[in-house]
Amino acid sequence: MPAKSITPWFNDFLGVAYRYFDLRMNLVPLFAERKEATNLWQNTIHWWVDPSIKVRFVERNDQYWFMMASESQKPDSNMSFFKILPKSGNYERFKKGNGGEAYLRLGVYSEHSLDDVKKSIQCNCGHAAEDHDEGDNDVCLYKTCHCKKFSSFQVNLLKRKKTITDILFLEEKNVKEDPLAWNCLYVNEYSKNE
Ligand SMILES: [Zn+2]
Ligand SMILES: [Zn+2]
Repeated sequence: MPAKSITPWFNDFLGVAYRYFDLRMNLVPLFAERKEATNLWQNTIHWWVDPSIKVRFVERNDQYWFMMASESQKPDSNMSFFKILPKSGNYERFKKGNGGEAYLRLGVYSEHSLDDVKKSIQCNCGHAAEDHDEGDNDVCLYKTCHCKKFSSFQVNLLKRKKTITDILFLEEKNVKEDPLAWNCLYVNEYSKNE
């Protein structure tokens, strides 16, 4: 039973961040370039009809499928988004804490290596840059820490936002009951294995 929808699926973005901001959880698709994010907002998401925005999550082992789609006032330039991502602490927090609502914003992601940061900057492991060994693959020097390589990233959120009120976490065995999740898995995976 293939999709009725002819909206193309888009997955050429870096990932999704989940942040508390403005008292509500923000769901933030990430891009490497500000211009890319801005263009995508102007051409596509700006035209979305807020109450029709749907977000679906389907877990599979250590990963999950993120899916997002909406009706648009400009259907010709509309796109649906999907990405297969590793489960993370922030994802689990979002799953528990979203309460059925979130703001959708786009974000610009930038990563720093040990070479280009100040010594006081924190690694994602929680320890400072100066506590990482430059001579040994940048491992964290705290014995109790499992961090093998310094990494620090920043997410800049673009200002404009949309409100999402239709968020579902589904099991893969039940995706047929949800037209959007079924369409995503069918188009991007099942139909390719046939
Ligand atoms: Zn570290
Ligand atoms: Zn550490």
